[in-house]
Amino acid sequence: MYFRQILRTQIVGTGTVQLPRVHRVCRAQRALCTKRDEVKLAEEASKKYGSLAPTIFSKVIDKSIAADIIYEDEKCVAFRDINPQAPVHFLVIPRVPIPRISQAKDDDADLLGHLVVVAKNMAQKESLSEGYRMVINDGKHGSQSVYHLHIHVLGGRQMKWPPG
Ligand code: 5GP
Repeated sequence: MYFRQILRTQIVGTGTVQLPRVHRVCRAQRALCTKRDEVKLAEEASKKYGSLAPTIFSKVIDKSIAADIIYEDEKCVAFRDINPQAPVHFLVIPRVPIPRISQAKDDDADLLGHLVVVAKNMAQKESLSEGYRMVINDGKHGSQSVYHLHIHVLGGRQMKWPPG
């Protein structure tokens, strides 16, 4: 099988630089969502959710930028956050570029459920047996910075409450 190897360096919350990771992307994985599919999904999404500006996460999905992808299927992609706020911090995003949770429609219920189930399964795979936090930031007051819906999964340390 053909593999492309991407070396990437991750900067953790404390500013420490971890050793480069090797991320393997095989052709079969790349084929899951091409740039063309991305354009089609974006066109359909703009009809459903209003006009949308593509975000950096579209490039993660079509693999035109490197990301540490830990899971993907026909509906979603999960990858490690570039600026982790906990020892384990990954994001689960739909392939359809829904801008924010407040703009999701009632008929997105199955997709939203799928994202939560994938987040839960991946948390288990990441050995977060002591618990973890799932977060969806929405809009300005929610401190959302990337307008492509995503679930944060944070774990591997004690979380505090209330959040800032
Ligand atoms: P938000 O603030 O919108 O809830 O979260 C966006 C998250 O996306 C942030 O935690 C940020 O570190 C992460 N992020 C932004 N750009 C990139 C990127 O290019 N790659 C990855 N892996 N994560 C990103």
